[in-house]
Amino acid sequence: MFDTLIHNGLVVTVDADFSVLSGGAVAIRAGVIEKVWAPAEGEQLPAAREILDAAGGIVLPGLVNAHTHLPMTVFRGLADDLPLREWLEQHIFPAEAAHINPDTVRLGAQLASAEMLLGGTTTCCDGYFLVDAFFDTVAAAGMRAVLGQGVIDFPAPGVPDPARNIETARAFAEKRRGSCARVQPAIFCHSPYTCSERTLTAAKKAADDYRLLFQIHVAETAGEREQILAAHGCTPVRYLSRLGLLDARTLLVHAVWVDLEEVEIIARCGARVAHCPESNMKLASGVAPVPDFLSAGITVGLGTDGCASNNDLDLWGEMDTAAKLHKVHRMDPTVMDAAAVVRLATIDGARALGLDDAIGSLVPGKRADLIVVDAHQPRLSPVYHAASHLVYAARGGDVRHVMVDGRWVVREKRILTMDVDDLLQRARFLADSIVSGKGRRS
Ligand SMILES: [Zn+2]
Repeated sequence: MFDTLIHNGLVVTVDADFSVLSGGAVAIRAGVIEKVWAPAEGEQLPAAREILDAAGGIVLPGLVNAHTHLPMTVFRGLADDLPLREWLEQHIFPAEAAHINPDTVRLGAQLASAEMLLGGTTTCCDGYFLVDAFFDTVAAAGMRAVLGQGVIDFPAPGVPDPARNIETARAFAEKRRGSCARVQPAIFCHSPYTCSERTLTAAKKAADDYRLLFQIHVAETAGEREQILAAHGCTPVRYLSRLGLLDARTLLVHAVWVDLEEVEIIARCGARVAHCPESNMKLASGVAPVPDFLSAGITVGLGTDGCASNNDLDLWGEMDTAAKLHKVHRMDPTVMDAAAVVRLATIDGARALGLDDAIGSLVPGKRADLIVVDAHQPRLSPVYHAASHLVYAARGGDVRHVMVDGRWVVREKRILTMDVDDLLQRARFLADSIVSGKGRRS
């Protein structure tokens, strides 16, 4: 007997052929997808403890957000419409220095988890500070996640002495690896312009010693490219390559200012890219050459970036934006077709994080991370091509049910793992203290 049987769905498997099954069913046992098929008419459905009629809704893999800074939800909308440097140095870094502590990162991570799960994102790849403090919060919310401890050569929350940044990241990796099947530790270097050569190589070595993902913001702005060129005599991606940091366990975030030779370097090394189009647009950073990445065979995941620079964690908007941004930028409506963009937000994102053996598509043997989108509404009717609706018409609020690892975390648009009213009230209290300047660390 199966634990859960979902039937009567339009199942977008995101398998190798991008198979879409009308009137499809998914059977789950012990957290694993055992069967995905389209039952013949009159076929007796197998027995299951729980049977969910998807009512014609679109069933697809849970979305994978390849780049987040979860606790930054507490700064959503605090400062907008500024250049990256000014935004970071005059607003974000001071706000973090004043208000980020173990309690606020837990609150921010919980808020982020609620937002993501309600919007159908079941996995995220995060980079921040005090990660150990919110690791259990993300696990308890029911998310699947890769959480990277931040490394930067400045005093940071939880790491007042930057000389101890690598030691702190190593201690986090040592404590958390293998501690939760759904949540894995990682190491996140902020960028090549905020970390020295020594820090970068030591952080990558720490990630390699523990066989963890190494994440880094790179080539985000033209200014960064100039700065690294002036300091090191080569562009950011070449610089990381020269330091030996590029391989299949390296996730390059943004990669906007890269030339075609750097695309080849990334492809040859097998490094992966997290593409964050809305953040790049909002901060006027530029347009990453994603069509070139894809034609070079580079694995690209889709990320929202932190809430202070997007300002949401909604991958539906991100898919829509990614598809349209590259079309207008290349003046070619055929680039980034809907199916390719759904792949970015599911299986390619999973591959970018090294999780594609476990998640990212609805195929037998994978963990049961899936969502059901309510298609029974005017905005999503009729349905000709499921991928088209997912990219160009659906929104986070259309997600009706969410399952992670075989367990429902959202049913009928209600989150089951936390008290949202209490969470929102705590977020309001924190915002009041940020605005009034209370709660500042001296
Ligand atoms: Zn970021």
